[in-house]
Amino acid sequence: MSPILDGYDFLHAGRVASDISNTEADNPVARRPGCPHRPLIEVPVPHGGSHNMLRVQRALPERYTKASSEQLAHYIDKAKQILGNQVFILGHHYQRDEVMAWADARGDSFRLSVLAQQHPEAKYIVFCGVHFMAESADILTGDHQQVLLPDLNAGCSMADMADIDQVEQAWNELALHTDIQRVVPVTYMNSAADLKAFTARNGGAVCTSSNAQAVLSWALERGEQVLFFPDQHLGRNTGFGLGYSDQHMQVWNPRMDLGGLSEAQCKEAVLLLWKGHCSVHQRFQPEHLTEFRAQHPNGIVIVHPECSREVCAQADQVGSTDYIIKAVAKAPAGSVIGVGTEIHLINRLNNEAPDKTVISLDPLVCPCSTMFRINAAHLAWTLEGLTQGKVFNRITVEPDIADEARVALNRMLSISYGQACADVR
Ligand code: SF4
Repeated sequence: MSPILDGYDFLHAGRVASDISNTEADNPVARRPGCPHRPLIEVPVPHGGSHNMLRVQRALPERYTKASSEQLAHYIDKAKQILGNQVFILGHHYQRDEVMAWADARGDSFRLSVLAQQHPEAKYIVFCGVHFMAESADILTGDHQQVLLPDLNAGCSMADMADIDQVEQAWNELALHTDIQRVVPVTYMNSAADLKAFTARNGGAVCTSSNAQAVLSWALERGEQVLFFPDQHLGRNTGFGLGYSDQHMQVWNPRMDLGGLSEAQCKEAVLLLWKGHCSVHQRFQPEHLTEFRAQHPNGIVIVHPECSREVCAQADQVGSTDYIIKAVAKAPAGSVIGVGTEIHLINRLNNEAPDKTVISLDPLVCPCSTMFRINAAHLAWTLEGLTQGKVFNRITVEPDIADEARVALNRMLSISYGQACADVR
């Protein structure tokens, strides 16, 4: 761990699936009762921008689709032994157990990307996460390293809610009604590489859910307004944390002219919040907290800042994935902890802390459906391919985009630590 990253409160993350990028789901009336569903139809995405490597996952051979879990475990184990330290497997906290069992490192998206960077001996980084995470790993790792995503359809619905065309259009529209030199773009880590590059070009920075407050404060020292994308909830919760109120924040709807705002609203808003959300975290509702507290009057409620303002306002603690893990560890033995985040992490926390009870606040919670696409079969296929000299599902970011995106990532680290991070290329 580099000195500058040591102790860094690494974020959480996530990326893909334009076909569940329904921003109307922010409207409670339109919320679906079940898990976010991603149709199985795989549609090639036109070439261009960061999406050019998305997302047509080929069907796996029967060797994998018909294998038992024991056979898959055998394939993975054997391939890992053959590959040795040529391969480094990263497992995001929201990943399913059959995959996490093989991860060389667990973490949130940024931490995993930095860990990949810190393992230059690994020629292959197998990122068991989602697409934007693999992009970030490609940006941060050396040219001799290749990043693989075991299922190309593993993406992040939130990240797909803002694409470069939409953001550039919003920027151009804002330029007609505001002093655009005084508007600073800030993108959440959960965004495509070309949006990170856009942010760098226009004087902004990346943020994580751990450092969003510091990055937004920095941005508002440089300008008078912030365009924050793609998660409105992280933006709003952070804005409240900085002392702003609803009247200082407006939601920018990319599907409407001028974001659905009046010229006055555009000019007067301090924070312009992109109308995006996480399909997992938006499911948590205030009623879930009410029910949990009724059943567990001494229970502790911890939620992720991608949950709505109404949920965060009623929680005992709000924090990133890393924060939630530490908060559970710190809770006294015997605690009952209701958590608002992805179910695989909640179950793992519960299993790994037998002296505490860790449960989901939402009894009908479902997994991050896109991350869930990566399973033991895809991992076995990816690793066995490497043993045969075949590189499946390599994720690459074009060098000019990667250079600019790295600037935005470096700015984030500089803001968080007060100095440039030489370790991030
Ligand atoms: S949990 Fe939400 S933000 Fe994270 S990868 Fe899944 S959809 Fe994206």
